[in-house]
Amino acid sequence: MKLLVTGGAGYVGSVCAAHLLEAGHEVVVLDDLSTGHRDAVPDGARFAEGNLADIAGTVLGEGGFEGVLHFAARSLVGESVTHPELYWENNVVVALRLLEAMREHAVPRIVFSSTAATYGEPEQVPILETSPTRPTNPYGASKLAIDMMLTSYAAAHGLAATSLRYFNVAGAHGRYGERHTVETHLIPIVLQVATGHRESVSVYGDDWPTPDGTCVRDYIHVDDLAEAHLLALTNATAGRHAIYNLGSGQGFSVKEVIEACRGVTGHPIPATTAPRRAGDPAVLIASSHAAAEALGWRPSRTDIRTIVGDAWRFTRDRLPV
Ligand code: UDP
Repeated sequence: MKLLVTGGAGYVGSVCAAHLLEAGHEVVVLDDLSTGHRDAVPDGARFAEGNLADIAGTVLGEGGFEGVLHFAARSLVGESVTHPELYWENNVVVALRLLEAMREHAVPRIVFSSTAATYGEPEQVPILETSPTRPTNPYGASKLAIDMMLTSYAAAHGLAATSLRYFNVAGAHGRYGERHTVETHLIPIVLQVATGHRESVSVYGDDWPTPDGTCVRDYIHVDDLAEAHLLALTNATAGRHAIYNLGSGQGFSVKEVIEACRGVTGHPIPATTAPRRAGDPAVLIASSHAAAEALGWRPSRTDIRTIVGDAWRFTRDRLPV
């Protein structure tokens, strides 16, 4: 298929673009490089640099596109609380412009990068797609708004839409991995201690109602995530919006992740207890049964040491020699 990948210079977008190319698809990456990196656009993809709302119509106007994978977004929870306008503009308004450009140029399907943050504080774990959606920050709210937009476009305009709600994405695919200018995620931060770029890691609270007192998350390897996108593309149905959680279905605590990083890197990784971070739920674990049933998706890289090991190889290989 000829596919447009928005945000294909970012972490998940670049890995998915690489998988799509490896599967023989034709890929055009659209990215404004506000948080992505030009050298993360995989070889073999065509690159269009610019603001999505401005140029989506021009890019799709060349014709022949059979689908869009939409990754481009703002994704920092804290920033979304202090600057919600950035999230309503760059996530919601831009998605509307993209859907209108798709409609104008008769592009039939979209796979959208949604998030577990649409659920907010869960009433029960594992979290199902039918669980209540009560986002606790504008980031999650903006993604939920787009999910709702997709439901309405599928019903009214026959769009084939799939929202994939990611849990904690980690790991790397060869030279494509996670490198944010502002890093807030646990695994990259812990690995920065191992590379000597940080003294220690702060553990945000050790008095949570969990077995070892630290928060539990469902870490999913970015390669497993990418495979779900390919399956979603081929399983799309006109006029239907499908929503699937993507997680590995098991939880690891912050302490367990740090321990796995110690094992993989051989570094002692000093850790200190810090106050809880505002807005953190104690436990987030996905039920991915729906994706397994409907798409035949089976995550295969669920061992935390495999996930951390791939992230470590990516981090270490990028260090100046
Ligand atoms: N965390 C931590 N120290 C850090 C970064 C994160 O203790 O420096 C914890 C955080 O409180 C959460 C878990 O690690 O419980 C995963 O956080 P991350 O930001 O990676 O993902 P989130 O679950 O917030 O999407």
